[in-house]
Amino acid sequence: MLGTIFDIKHFSIHDGPGIRQTIFFKGCPLSCWWCHNPESRSNEITDVEKEETLDGVKICDTETIGKLYSVDQLMAEVIKDIVFFEESGGGVTLSGGEPLQQHEFVLELLKECRKMEINTCVDITGNVNAGILSNIASYTDLFLYDLKHIDDVQHIKYTGVSNKQILSNLKLLDEMGKDVWIRFPLIPGINDDESDFLRLMEFLSKLKNTHPISLLPYHKIGRHKYSRYGIEYKMNGISEPDSDYILQIKNMFTNAGFLTSIGG
Ligand code: SF4
Repeated sequence: MLGTIFDIKHFSIHDGPGIRQTIFFKGCPLSCWWCHNPESRSNEITDVEKEETLDGVKICDTETIGKLYSVDQLMAEVIKDIVFFEESGGGVTLSGGEPLQQHEFVLELLKECRKMEINTCVDITGNVNAGILSNIASYTDLFLYDLKHIDDVQHIKYTGVSNKQILSNLKLLDEMGKDVWIRFPLIPGINDDESDFLRLMEFLSKLKNTHPISLLPYHKIGRHKYSRYGIEYKMNGISEPDSDYILQIKNMFTNAGFLTSIGG
């Protein structure tokens, strides 16, 4: 069995506790307007023609996005960082894209990590079959769980899919007693309406357990990728939130009783 991976980041400090190795799986069922990794969406390994100008000279090149790995090959990569995991309380994070689009491969990888007592974190959109998720949950120490918009109509508009399965799967993990860190991209004019925040907090407050929330302020890093990969960029005119505003939203969640941080 092989997995399609588009990047491996060593020494990450934003994808779970401690120092982590983050493995990015190719393929995503969503198409978020603000996605920083639009090249991750397709399940296929793709060749992209790149044209750059260096010292006035045009250079054309082909970039291949995605690479096939066996579980053994990925574990060989993971093991390189094991000393850093042990020193920092870190481990491996499986991200994407949506890693659970390759759930059979992910399950095998998680089982190997468990055999070696390596901490595992899976960063998901939640848009996945509930049976698959509960199977994966048995071998996962922590989920990073993206909530993009509480309003289903807006969720469909900005991501291309309904949030019904996503919200229901979050309840499922909560009922299973899994550790979940919620990640909310803060995007002015898209998901920061006060009434939507109130609905989001109401939904979260009905869960059995309290899960930490990371606010991920929208930024424009990655914008250049859209023209490079020939994908339409829809975020023109959307500003990055300033630090006062981000703090104001953080305080709103904190005052409502949620353990809230910025970034992550
Ligand atoms: S879920 Fe993540 S990877 Fe998928 S389109 Fe949205 S931002 Fe991009």
